[in-house]
Amino acid sequence: MIKRRILNHAPAFLERLTRHRWALAALGSLSALSMVAATAVPVASPPPEGQQRVIEALQIEAMRPLQEGSETFFREESITRGDTFGSLLARLGVHDEAAQRFILSSPEARHLHRQLVAGRSLAARTTASGELIQLYVPLADGETVAIIERHGERLKLSEHALQYETHQVMKSGEIRSSLFGATDAAGIPDSIAIQMAEIFSSDIDFHRDLRRGDRFSLIYEMQYHHGQPARSGRILAAEFVNDGKTYQAFLFEQDGKSAYYGPDGKSRKKAFLRSPLEFSRVTSGFSMRFHPILNTWRAHKGVDYGAPIGTRVRATGDGSVEFVGTRGGYGNLVILSHAGGYQTYYAHLNGFAKGLKKGSRVSQGDTIGYVGKTGWATGPHLHYEFHVKGSAVNPLSIAVPTALPLSPAQQARFQAQSRQQLALLELLQDTPSVRFE
Ligand SMILES: [Zn+2]
Repeated sequence: MIKRRILNHAPAFLERLTRHRWALAALGSLSALSMVAATAVPVASPPPEGQQRVIEALQIEAMRPLQEGSETFFREESITRGDTFGSLLARLGVHDEAAQRFILSSPEARHLHRQLVAGRSLAARTTASGELIQLYVPLADGETVAIIERHGERLKLSEHALQYETHQVMKSGEIRSSLFGATDAAGIPDSIAIQMAEIFSSDIDFHRDLRRGDRFSLIYEMQYHHGQPARSGRILAAEFVNDGKTYQAFLFEQDGKSAYYGPDGKSRKKAFLRSPLEFSRVTSGFSMRFHPILNTWRAHKGVDYGAPIGTRVRATGDGSVEFVGTRGGYGNLVILSHAGGYQTYYAHLNGFAKGLKKGSRVSQGDTIGYVGKTGWATGPHLHYEFHVKGSAVNPLSIAVPTALPLSPAQQARFQAQSRQQLALLELLQDTPSVRFE
């Protein structure tokens, strides 16, 4: 009955919440709110293995019934220096010769090649097999978007004034093999999956801590261009259940700055990140394809992360550089000193961040070097050590100092805001027997 109570006090934005397109087509003219109510009542037998629970907050006009087998994927990639349409289409999961030909060699699309501005992002909608449905290319003027769209066998290019509407999307998923496996199945863009990993990066090491059966629920912004998803925004609220332990985070703004807080009003940001490697599709899928020389923590006092050579290594906490250079079996090594008598070691590096030298100040998350296999390493990986007052401790077991809570005045505002989001996250987690898509 708790769910009923939540629904009876449904906030305005719940009224906009409707079930996903699939359900909308099936349920026809029911009002949005009554469809939400329907989700709180178990109406179907338990979903088959692998079933994702998916709810989207979309406006009615954005809805289109989907045909059987017409599942689509939305991906977004930021443009880095040296990118071409060839490299971007590959990263966007576009495996479509006709679309590639159109983009790479048609006179119509030629001018787009000068529009790849580093830092901006491209987005694509594809079918499950990689056929392009739509490609969004924001133009350098900042006000126009070019859209390449499939109409049957033909591809068409059109340009539109940017007109994004922001909607809140709610989705949940369960991890069976990998985080990206779960977010792909739920149709969650990579940028949102990575944001989720960043938000919980003080508590969960997404390279090592994930367990089969871990669950997550998200409320995030999605920008739509004429009813189609075109750009992902920020995560507004998130819940992650890792190995039976629940973590929650809510985006909260004060003094013009926004940050994530737990339900108790304490900042999610802590003195140390759980992992010195940034989380990405590449690092998440990279297992150590070699036998570590000494593979237990007890034997070698550190934790090893397999990752491709060149993967960015980041400072896990604010501090200063104690050592940068080569040292025996460590190979290329960075040692950072942190307040409170902590030190962190990053070994076997391929190279160091430009300008890094003894005494440099670094902030949490700054890139300090790149994964390599220098020193006693038989394959590319990062060896990470955590020292407390001179002796190595297992970084996976330390309790790190937490940040200060919000002031009492901000706390009240925060609680009012997070309460309704929390109710929605719980609704998402608690409706395992409802089929959404
Ligand atoms: Zn090691």
